[in-house]
Amino acid sequence: RNESRLSAVKEITNAAPYTTTMTAPLKEIWASDVFGLQQMEESLSKSAFKAIKETVQTGSELELAVADVVAAAMKDWAMAKGAKFFSHIFYPMTNATAEKHDGFVVTNADGTAITEFTGSLLIKGEPDGSSFPNGSLRMTNAARGYTAWDPTSPAYIMHTANGAVLMIPSVFMSWTGEALDKKIPLLRSNAAMDSAAQKVLALMGETEIATLNSSCGAEQEYFLIDEKFANARPDLLLAGRTLFGASPAKGQEFDDHYFGAIPERVQVFMQDLEDRLYCLGIPAKTHHNEVAPGQFEIAPYFEAANVASDHQQLLMTLLKNTAKRHGFVCLLHEKPFAGINGSGKHVNWSVGNATQGNLLDPGNTPNENLNFLLFCGAVIRGVHKYGSLLRAVIASAANDHRLGANEAPPAILSVYLGDQLEKVFDNIRTGELHVPTTGGQMDIGLSQILKFDRDPGDRNRTSPFAFTGNRFEFRAVGSSQSVSGPLVAMNTMLADSLEWIAAKLETALAANGDKTAAVFTVLQELMEEHGNVVFGGDGYSSEWHTAAVEERGLKNIPTTADALPAFKTQEVIDLFANTGVFTPAELASRFEVYAEQYVLSIEVEAKLVVEMATTIIYPAAINYLSNIAATGVTLTFSPAEKVADAANAMMAAVEELSAALATEEFASTEAHMQFLATEVCSLMLKVRGAADQLEMLVDDSLWPLPKYREMLFIK
Ligand code: ADP
Ligand code: MG
Repeated sequence: RNESRLSAVKEITNAAPYTTTMTAPLKEIWASDVFGLQQMEESLSKSAFKAIKETVQTGSELELAVADVVAAAMKDWAMAKGAKFFSHIFYPMTNATAEKHDGFVVTNADGTAITEFTGSLLIKGEPDGSSFPNGSLRMTNAARGYTAWDPTSPAYIMHTANGAVLMIPSVFMSWTGEALDKKIPLLRSNAAMDSAAQKVLALMGETEIATLNSSCGAEQEYFLIDEKFANARPDLLLAGRTLFGASPAKGQEFDDHYFGAIPERVQVFMQDLEDRLYCLGIPAKTHHNEVAPGQFEIAPYFEAANVASDHQQLLMTLLKNTAKRHGFVCLLHEKPFAGINGSGKHVNWSVGNATQGNLLDPGNTPNENLNFLLFCGAVIRGVHKYGSLLRAVIASAANDHRLGANEAPPAILSVYLGDQLEKVFDNIRTGELHVPTTGGQMDIGLSQILKFDRDPGDRNRTSPFAFTGNRFEFRAVGSSQSVSGPLVAMNTMLADSLEWIAAKLETALAANGDKTAAVFTVLQELMEEHGNVVFGGDGYSSEWHTAAVEERGLKNIPTTADALPAFKTQEVIDLFANTGVFTPAELASRFEVYAEQYVLSIEVEAKLVVEMATTIIYPAAINYLSNIAATGVTLTFSPAEKVADAANAMMAAVEELSAALATEEFASTEAHMQFLATEVCSLMLKVRGAADQLEMLVDDSLWPLPKYREMLFIK
């Protein structure tokens, strides 16, 4: 009998309910572990506070003297909360969050201890970090890497059962100043977008234009399964997804989980998680059951992209930690279970500032409409021109299982605008939108034409990139991914489009002088070139897959192996170089790192498939066969032959897979990735096919791995 699996079921069934310890009212806990502007105001001199506030709000440079004062106040605050250590926290090119802890303590010659935390310690750290993948940006013999404080994202305390650590959000760069992380490019892309947007708004006659910032609200999907099941599955432990598992008799076909009543145990987990998020000033806003059994979603309220990105990383960390305290494992993998929905992370994104507001909000007046149309047009151009980049930044071995799998957006990048807005842009393209060309009260004509509701038309769940009333929603992002990559791509493509628009607009204005006419001239050209990317139909349909490629000239990019080479195209190299977001060397390092991640993840999975099939599944089949033989009876309906056939087929496929894995020479990284995406992935599926057949034949009490029905339905 297989005790580990069967006893897991029993223990979970008999477990006492989990509870949470924290039940304080929101106003007591909100941002209580954050060293934000409020704490700074309370603990700093007026002049120091003014200086740091300026830096936080506009990114202006901070004097070392002020940093010293801030550091001292930060240390006192953190130590009063039990912290003895501090850490620069940073975001390497993988999707990870990294930290290296240092004590506040220093000893005197006489052995007594004092604590120290100066401005320079706050500003700069040297974690070395030479083991992080750096894509050849650093030689290991010159492996210096620096972290530097990002004052625009607030420091905070992370508690454990035994103490606390002061966490300082930081950038991570090489000795030569190259970006080794996901924060530097995000800050740079925001600056590029700001600079281009300023030009467009100035041409539009805006006189006061505050710094523009991008914002992000990410909807995070995840699975929860009991830890006891996860521990009995090497694939979940090491690869984050099931590499084997027959479909249960009941899956998600009844749609009885989506938005259903949240199971009590999960609700308790969510409330615990949200209290922790509130302490850290993360505005958890909605939670609900998702489509697949065992799948849930949490969405915080949107924030400035840089802060939202740090908070998103923290959210993923807390999801995992908190799940553990409740006896769950939180699976952030994009496709933990075959045959049922995978998990995405919808990245809601807009740009705006204090003077013009949200520029992706159509607003109520014609002038706002014009700004809106330009910014919206800029996004359309960006998605069309840089669709393959958008696909590349969301590419991973895990997300490949989800995209195009008829439940998640297709691997073809198109833009959904909603009926009304699509009509407006269609009319702009064909020149049907009547624009009075003489001066005077053009407003009247425009406000009639361009007034539309905030939620124009229906939601389109099949689009990878959808306008949703006052923002765009990039829906193809994977659940385990950092939001930084997508945000960098969106900000940068917008910067590029706004630069293009500014140049065109300047010419058009010089020729005619009429603002409205100029805007429509520019947008008409834009739509003629890029309007093909706008698509309001069913993105899942096979007709679209054909039409997108054959009639619209869009690209269908199914795998990471197909997607990553976009980083090496001249167009993308130029885009990033011109906007100052990545130097060509920095960009090349991204390709190397992401390609390596892809290769490593497929190889880990393939090795695991070989091992699990050989050492767990095959023995279970043999065990069952010997039980049948031991009865000594000739059965009319003996499963022995089928079991033997499936076991043999599985082991034959294992041989093939092992042989494929032994292949060593590849002409290029690209060729290696293609080999894995095609050969190795299909052999893994071949092994799995036979193994899943065995699962449906072998005596249930002998089956070693927790089954789908158990993992998904037992809480
Ligand atoms: P839905 O599931 O209907 O798409 P949710 O409420 O789950 O919507 O999530 C929407 C997300 O979009 C939230 O994080 C919300 O704060 C965010 N959001 C709303 N307005 C903006 C905006 N202007 N810019 C960026 N994100 C936004
Ligand atoms: Mg949602």
